[in-house]
Amino acid sequence: MANNNPEQPEENQSFGVSGEERQVPGAEPPVLYDQPTMPEAAVVKVDQSAEVHDQPTQPQAPLAGLGAQDEGTINATAGRPVIAVRDLTKTYRLGRGTYVRALRGVSLEVYPGEFVAVMGPSGSGKSTFMNLIGCLDRPTSGEYWLGGRLVSKLSNDELASIRNRMIGFVFQGFNLLGRADALHNVALPMVYAGLPRREREIRARKMLQLVGLGSRLHHKPSELSGGQQQRVAIARALVNGPSLLLADEPTGNLDSRTSVEIMAVLQALNDQGLTIVLVTHEPDIAAYARRQVGFRDGRLVRDEPVAEPRSAQEEWKALVNARATESGVQIKEEPE
Ligand code: ADP
Repeated sequence: MANNNPEQPEENQSFGVSGEERQVPGAEPPVLYDQPTMPEAAVVKVDQSAEVHDQPTQPQAPLAGLGAQDEGTINATAGRPVIAVRDLTKTYRLGRGTYVRALRGVSLEVYPGEFVAVMGPSGSGKSTFMNLIGCLDRPTSGEYWLGGRLVSKLSNDELASIRNRMIGFVFQGFNLLGRADALHNVALPMVYAGLPRREREIRARKMLQLVGLGSRLHHKPSELSGGQQQRVAIARALVNGPSLLLADEPTGNLDSRTSVEIMAVLQALNDQGLTIVLVTHEPDIAAYARRQVGFRDGRLVRDEPVAEPRSAQEEWKALVNARATESGVQIKEEPE
């Protein structure tokens, strides 16, 4: 998938969080350079009054969390899926008379606040599907409703505009600017939107605090661990207040310990209402999601809830404590 270019945020949008940095009890900086910090649980207010336009008929959503509107608020349009696809197909033309049917009629709904892992073997259509729901490409046939709006037939410019307002992307390779520090990497999407510098910095700082990097604002990517770089990328993906986070193998370049760290951040964001769709080929990573869908030969062949998702936050705390014990560092419980 392409990079998430910095673009115009929707007015007054920001992912609704307190922005307070909170460390896992007992974790102190010298031991934990890539410190385990979890986003503060935000107050989630559900806005039931939001108007619904162009909406397909959908069953009621059990979950809340679509689209942050105001600071400190995660705004949910209850009852409306973030993503609704109907009989989506994508056929690539390779040459004269040669076609690849990458998607063969996929129907799926993702509701606000869901955390969905998209799985399947190589060539099964995962990337094609993510490109479509990320508004990076258009289907050959079928419908795609994003946030209640039919987007499958929009022009490229309209797609780009919707994409930049509604979707945050996180990739395996972080895609950070090497010469810019964390703060500027995160602020970049707002530069092009013409936001005043102070506003950009305030928001970028808040997002970095949210992902536990409040003390690394001026570190460049090369001065950050892999996990920290991915957290910067997550902060950047959130800075325009998207309704949906699409993560394409976000732990693919990370060791297992750091993968837990990143999954802990994603789970904490999801706990606050952020809708996440994550592509992974690793069952261990998919086990952190609340729902798993499986592709094979361009078709959706599996769609089931995860009865007991793994808790990355618990696992991360255990890893941190084990590490601290090994190094003989005394753990001090911090008051909640
Ligand atoms: P996955 O992400 O599960 O590995 P993809 O969506 O990348 O699967 O690919 C699904 C099928 O579509 C594969 O057969 C692949 O070769 C084909 N495909 C993907 N992208 C293109 C493209 N741009 N042009 C032609 N064929 C493609």
